[in-house]
Amino acid sequence: MKQVDYIIVGLGLAGLSFSRELEKQGKSFIVYEDDSQHSSKVAGGMYNPIILKRFTPVWDAENQLKIAVPFYKELENLLGATYDTKIPIYRLLTSIEEQNNWFATCDHPVLSQYMIPKIIKETFNGIKSPFGYGKVIGTGKIDTAKLIHDYRLYLEKKEVIIYSNFEYKAIQHSIKQVVYKNYIASKIVFCEGYGIKQNPYFNHLPMQEAKGEYITIYAPDLNIDFVLKSSVSIMPLGGHTFKIGATFNWNDKTNIPTEKGKDELVSKLKTLISVPFEIIDQVAGIRPTVKDRRPLVGIHPNHTELAIINGLGTRGVMIAPTVAKELYNHIENETKLRNEINISRFTG
Ligand SMILES: Cc1cc2nc3c(=O)[nH]c(=O)nc-3n(C[C@H](O)[C@H](O)[C@H](O)COP(=O)(O)OP(=O)(O)OC[C@H]3O[C@@H](n4cnc5c(N)ncnc54)[C@H](O)[C@@H]3O)c2cc1C
Repeated sequence: MKQVDYIIVGLGLAGLSFSRELEKQGKSFIVYEDDSQHSSKVAGGMYNPIILKRFTPVWDAENQLKIAVPFYKELENLLGATYDTKIPIYRLLTSIEEQNNWFATCDHPVLSQYMIPKIIKETFNGIKSPFGYGKVIGTGKIDTAKLIHDYRLYLEKKEVIIYSNFEYKAIQHSIKQVVYKNYIASKIVFCEGYGIKQNPYFNHLPMQEAKGEYITIYAPDLNIDFVLKSSVSIMPLGGHTFKIGATFNWNDKTNIPTEKGKDELVSKLKTLISVPFEIIDQVAGIRPTVKDRRPLVGIHPNHTELAIINGLGTRGVMIAPTVAKELYNHIENETKLRNEINISRFTG
């Protein structure tokens, strides 16, 4: 038997953030990962504190950004690679009314620091923009696929990751400890994304997961060095390739890219750009979204050795580092979890 402080199930953004917190605090752990979910690997990776449909603040964004930006910087130093690309977002404005809303929101006490208080009139080859753009700054894009790939290698070298399905029925509960196969741990932290559906301890929590698909295109005549946000987002990847997405599908629960998803993205893209493009890739994943659009963090009411980080929804990049820290402090230092993220809001 091997004794560890923690077992982590799942190495998406949630598991990665919690494992980093454990490393920083000098705790031992082992990660189980079975590649059943893809959300973190296919994510656009954007962080942006403004809901650009309505020009309203994203929940808790200012607080999360203060933790997330240094968190990814630290990972860049640790792993010797670049993951965070600072890139502005240009919101395509579609009417005089939207222009007026843009100016009105530029006075917002929090959002003003991220919004440029003018209409960008510059034109770009192949993009119609009769009402111009609103420019958002302080935003960026994390290369989540590369980050997870590199972090896995890092954990492999430390021999603290096992590529295997975690079998819930093999958990044995004992006082203040939990036994799983040949590991004894103080806690298991479940970070399975949509895999939570298989978890008998937490699958009662009210998920409302949404499948998302992206296509990647090659468009040699498209020249933008910002993320264009409209009915879809166009994200430059370099070398005239762009990620286009994403879709929202509330019914299909598979990670498989579909023709329907591709057609939807192509038809929206064609309303935005008039330059030729070729599709070179397509990916899909399930966003672990919760009914009330808040994360699921906390300790199981009957099995205090089991805990969870899930429900990161559409904004795992910003939320994960903050809630990982909060769960750690809750477990180790008995700090209170905020009610709005605590799973006790559903379990009592
Ligand atoms: C198309 C798309 C675009 C997105 N764009 C953005 C964006 O631009 N910005 C943003 O912030 N967020 C974005 N998101 C959301 C973001 O991806 C999620 O919020 C986040 O990745 C969720 O992370 P997670 O670790 O909770 O779950 P996941 O990434 O799903 O990770 C869970 C991990 O657990 C593993 N696992 C599950 N069950 C088991 C088991 N029994 N045993 C072992 N391992 C297991 C899975 O294989 C997986 O690796 C996007 C999502 C999608 C699908």
